[in-house]
Amino acid sequence: MMSVRDSLSPQEALAVMDTAQRIAIAGHINPDGDALGSALALQSLLRAMGKDVTVLLGQDHAPPELYKFLPNYEFVWASEYSEVPDLFIVVDASTAKRLGNSERILGVARDTLVIDHHTNYEGFAHHYIGDTMAPAAATLIWRIIKASGITPTLDMATYCYVGIMTDTGRFAFKNTNASAFADASEMIGIGVDPAGLSELVYENKTLPALRLEALMTDRIQFSGAGSIAYSFILKDDLRTLGLERDVTEQLPAILRAIKGVEVAALFREEGREGIRVNLRSRSSFNVGAFAREFGGGGHAGAAGLTLEQPLDEAISCVVERLASELSAHT
Ligand code: 5GP
Ligand code: MN
Repeated sequence: MMSVRDSLSPQEALAVMDTAQRIAIAGHINPDGDALGSALALQSLLRAMGKDVTVLLGQDHAPPELYKFLPNYEFVWASEYSEVPDLFIVVDASTAKRLGNSERILGVARDTLVIDHHTNYEGFAHHYIGDTMAPAAATLIWRIIKASGITPTLDMATYCYVGIMTDTGRFAFKNTNASAFADASEMIGIGVDPAGLSELVYENKTLPALRLEALMTDRIQFSGAGSIAYSFILKDDLRTLGLERDVTEQLPAILRAIKGVEVAALFREEGREGIRVNLRSRSSFNVGAFAREFGGGGHAGAAGLTLEQPLDEAISCVVERLASELSAHT
């Protein structure tokens, strides 16, 4: 396993990119604003450097509707990508397991590079540039853009802003630091519209999505004397409401915002994928470390895991373990 010391500098990462002509980029499955924004920003930079670039999706379904406002919101399914890239770049993922169909490209590409901000990078690529203190993978992309000598465009700034805004929960989560504000300030100087982008991501809910929130809220249960809040979403909920799974991205934060709650868990029935569990913490309890005990991962404040069990068993198993670890945690 690599440590932070093994990270390349932005200049060294650019040198790796410079030697390649055909480049494929992929983020993690069930992509969020950071995975998508980072991949598209990097694509923009690499195209400005004269490279031939493709952004891949690790699952064979459309990317989230929510981020459709981003320029050049076009992707290629990794399952249909038949080229042999000179370089395959993974953004916003610390483990190959999170790549879905894109994982195959690791074995095909001539060279591989990971750009990431998670802890516990699993060392699955030739090159790595990472910073576990960075609020978003987009923070690292922004550093690379600035080191490139290419003037950042409004599109590049917009992609990176969306990555940082969403991963920090609008500059509010524990990972929000001075760099988030410093970068945002630079991006706004280039023309990024913070209110406009916030509105597009957070004030653009459909009525069915709001109804899903109501369903989830109705099902909230507590454990650990109110310190743990949990709820669930069924596959049928999405089907009945005519929704895609990506509308569930902002739901775990609602659970964590309840008075007295330290840790929130949202259980989502995902059919073939099993039960997905989104974890959020606002105390010093590290949900990333907790998720790793179940083969998942993530950050101290936001993490996820997958269980192949019926929903009720998954819930009791995770909630019991959470309650006992949280009570042992000082
Ligand atoms: P979310 O709950 O929004 O899916 O994920 C929260 C954070 O944890 C994200 O940074 C995400 O990349 C990470 N994460 C979620 N699920 C997993 C998982 O199964 N494995 C790993 N390594 N990270 C995960
Ligand atoms: Mn991220």
